[in-house]
Amino acid sequence: MLRYAARMSSEPSALGRPADPECPECGTTLTFVETVVSSGAFRTQAASMPQTPIHYYDCTGCQTCWKLGTRLLPDPVRQIARDTAR
Ligand SMILES: [Zn+2]
Repeated sequence: MLRYAARMSSEPSALGRPADPECPECGTTLTFVETVVSSGAFRTQAASMPQTPIHYYDCTGCQTCWKLGTRLLPDPVRQIARDTAR
């Protein structure tokens, strides 16, 4: 148990998150918000699917929300949520 805990603590805390990418819209370096791990699979497949961390970013230049999984994509869901909360 102790050995297991020690191994876990030595792993990177950010799930191997790459360096903050630049905004494809305006070139500003994006601000990291959070990482969510999800397979993106339907429930019956989830156990056997690889868990893919999705990194979420905000752009301070053009105020767009982005998510980085296999590639950097705009995230309209978070965009709408953020605009509504404003
Ligand atoms: Zn931008």
